[in-house]
Amino acid sequence: MWTDLGLDLEAHAGLMNVLGSFYTDIYLTQTNRPKGMEYLDFVISEVHGLRIEELLAAKAQGRKVIGAFCLYVPEEILIAADAVSVGLCAGADIGTAQAEQVLPRNTCALIKSFFGFKLAGLCPYVEACDFVIGETTCDGKTKAYEIFNQYKETFVLEVPHTKSPAATKLWRSEIGRLVEKVETAAGKKITAANLLKAIETVNAKRAVLGRLNLLRAADPAPISGRDALLINQVAFYDDPVRFTKKIGELCDELEARVAAREGVAPKGTPRVLLSGCPMAIPNWKVPFLVEKNGAVIVGEESCVGERGTRNLVDLTGVDISDRDAILDRIAERYFKIDCAVFTPNADRNLHVREMSARNHAGGVIHYAIQFCTPYLMEAHGMEQTAREMEIPLLRLETDYSMEDAPQLETRIQAFLEMIR
Ligand code: SF4
Ligand code: SF4
Repeated sequence: MWTDLGLDLEAHAGLMNVLGSFYTDIYLTQTNRPKGMEYLDFVISEVHGLRIEELLAAKAQGRKVIGAFCLYVPEEILIAADAVSVGLCAGADIGTAQAEQVLPRNTCALIKSFFGFKLAGLCPYVEACDFVIGETTCDGKTKAYEIFNQYKETFVLEVPHTKSPAATKLWRSEIGRLVEKVETAAGKKITAANLLKAIETVNAKRAVLGRLNLLRAADPAPISGRDALLINQVAFYDDPVRFTKKIGELCDELEARVAAREGVAPKGTPRVLLSGCPMAIPNWKVPFLVEKNGAVIVGEESCVGERGTRNLVDLTGVDISDRDAILDRIAERYFKIDCAVFTPNADRNLHVREMSARNHAGGVIHYAIQFCTPYLMEAHGMEQTAREMEIPLLRLETDYSMEDAPQLETRIQAFLEMIR
């Protein structure tokens, strides 16, 4: 299978070894984990196994596999064309040397990672995709996709940077362009009925993640932040119906834990909210350092977290036989995402306030990937928000290497002392 996909077999075996031991150290050493996390352990053990076989089986049946790197790509449209939607990960310091032969060194780790995975022949997901969808969010990604297209067909969605009426109109027209592209590639018409079914599937997935996030308000916290992050990461590439069912079962278990006042850490453990750049799988460095030092993460204001899942497509009052009206609602839902590439972007600060209050966070860790100008710039406003909430905020700027882990750990320890 790997040879057919064109992977570098030796490098891929090396990656699997490293990932396995990293996962064991960060995840399997946790105590008092919910039993429902066994499903996630299984998914991770099969991340380059069964799930890839499922994707290849779908392709053999004539279905398309379409990859995306960003939250602005509506899964509903891909699913409505009977395609498989795969959120491509870019969370490991891999293939950096190859990526830096093409990209400037001072490019963010996430962009270098998605390039590195492709150039080093390490990612079976990107190889399994018929094409990928990029977007004009930050300048780095926008320009990187021009080059990436030389290695893998990349369809680029134009994401405006303001939410003015003209920008809203442009965004809606981009949704129309995406529909045409997906219909042509999949050879299937996207109908109102198919869209409704796809919306039901994706809304259910987001609703179950919303339920999980609410349960994390309990003290003691019923689940660790590491595990919650993992669930959000897996949400990008697992089968959505199966995932929703399994996370629903996990939430039932967490509800029982909350009722029994059981948790992953004692009541009164310092509680932290993470806010900032996405943490794509297997980027677990900061959550591990935070929880290893005696705190519990109670929310992720991030694309791999509530920024990506909090709003559902709202069909209230829509004529359900009117495809364009349904697409309007999809466009509206996605345009609410408060990525730092937008100006102004006050919703993100409001969301941090709401999450901190709801899940009783004693402090905020603002996480930015080195060279990510939009999030590094927004850290300033976030500090102001934290001052207004009268809770401390720690600004972290890092990449995917482990070289700065000791230094980060010292800063995290000092921060946690402030909220104990
Ligand atoms: S941070 Fe912005 S550009 Fe990056 S994945 Fe999230 S929404 Fe997309
Ligand atoms: S982390 Fe920042 S710089 Fe990197 S791709 Fe996302 S928005 Fe762009």
